[in-house]
Amino acid sequence: MSEIHLLTTEQLIDGLQTKQFSSTELTEHYIKRIEALDSKVNSFITNTSETARAQAKAADERRAQGDKRRLLGIPMAHKDIFCTQGVLTTCGSKMLHNFVSPYDATIVSNIEQAGMISLGKLNMDEFAMGSDNSSSYYGTVQNPWNLERVPGGSSGGSAAAVAAGFVPVATGSDTGGSIRQPASFCGLTGIKPTYGRVSRFGMIAYASSLDQAGAMGRDAKDCAYLLQPMVSYDERDATSVLHDIPDYVQDINDAEAAAGDSAKPLNSLRIGVAKEYFTKGLDKEVEQAVRAALKQYEDLGATIVEVNITDPDISLATYYMLAPAEASSNLSRFDGVRFGYRCENPKDLTDLYTRTRSEGFGPEVQRRILTGTYALSAGYFDAFYTKAQRVRRMIVKDFEDAFANCDVIASPTAPTAAYKLSDNLDPATMYLGDVYTIGVNLAGLPALSQPVGLTSAGLPIGLQLIGQYWQESKLLATAHLFQQHTDHHLQHSTIAKETV
Ligand code: GLN
Repeated sequence: MSEIHLLTTEQLIDGLQTKQFSSTELTEHYIKRIEALDSKVNSFITNTSETARAQAKAADERRAQGDKRRLLGIPMAHKDIFCTQGVLTTCGSKMLHNFVSPYDATIVSNIEQAGMISLGKLNMDEFAMGSDNSSSYYGTVQNPWNLERVPGGSSGGSAAAVAAGFVPVATGSDTGGSIRQPASFCGLTGIKPTYGRVSRFGMIAYASSLDQAGAMGRDAKDCAYLLQPMVSYDERDATSVLHDIPDYVQDINDAEAAAGDSAKPLNSLRIGVAKEYFTKGLDKEVEQAVRAALKQYEDLGATIVEVNITDPDISLATYYMLAPAEASSNLSRFDGVRFGYRCENPKDLTDLYTRTRSEGFGPEVQRRILTGTYALSAGYFDAFYTKAQRVRRMIVKDFEDAFANCDVIASPTAPTAAYKLSDNLDPATMYLGDVYTIGVNLAGLPALSQPVGLTSAGLPIGLQLIGQYWQESKLLATAHLFQQHTDHHLQHSTIAKETV
């Protein structure tokens, strides 16, 4: 029982089915770890241990009565960007320090209906703006591999909680890399699905045309298990797309069966590699690990083909024009009138708006609102916003052309491994860390990050796999077959190795 948190989701499901442990025992195990160790990591903003205990008891009873839902009684936790009825939802901000949502996000109710148990709400960069969790009003999150390092962001709490062995899987959201980059920094697998695949209803909006929820776990199959209930067509999200929903776990199993015991299970796979992803700014050790992983992919039968994509620096500039523009509009609803923080004793309406927003939002959020408002202002709209939209179209086209010659595109997930919190990056330097992930959001493509080794300082390195629209199964099965023949995903963080 003491190392139960090192098991994969599939092993946990098996353990419940074969009565090696009950959901109550499993849930208690994770709660005990959170209580003993999260003071070092700070991954949770809100714990829901009491409701989790009640849900676990109910799950055990239902299982005894013959309920066969595969995720019944499996614990998880949500990034605090997803609205949860009756439970605090802060989005990492003082602005929502007292906000209790009257409804559940679609993914929250979907996951609950699948029988999973939520242990609470996870820390994140304020309104999902950031790459190292330093903008959270609820304090920084420490990387479970090395507590002096950042966990990545904005889903830093989600990544840290899984890497620390506080939950087997967690939800995240990804507007420009916020699932993939923290997965990379914390040695996890994390997937951002195709835009429109997962409902955005009840996910607090940052940049609506880029935001997409996804799953984080130790390996590709963990992600498949959690992603399944997240995916649904939702009339309450106008950008939700009605599209065939595969069984991701089954697709992985089918790919595995098709490969049989072949030494070259990936021999029909063409991996596109673009030189644009291996340029200045890429850390040497990260580059070595990514190239070594590509070699492992080749050894497993894959063919590497050269492709071209838009210069990631151009994607970066486009993103940091469009995302703040959308954010400035989305965040106008936080005005002190309807919900959340309100300043003390406002003199008049203008004072109410001004002070509420100055006091309620942190510096990174204010910076983005200012940049976005500027980009959308009458005199600059065409020069900045319209131009960025045109460039976005070209980025989409370049990906389409690249996919004419390959099945997936591989790159480093981030240019470096986790840095030190004390490095105190200025905003522009922090933005550079998103250089390889944001093109995917601008194009709306699915992508995952998988662990491919450690730096000499023992910090995880991630490889990004980008897929064609709707091909989450292809990405997950590809990463899974790789993980079957390698052991990068089996390494555990320092905190995960601690028993309590
Ligand atoms: N780091 C990027 C940003 O700060 C991406 C954030 C995200 O994906 N939510 O905007």
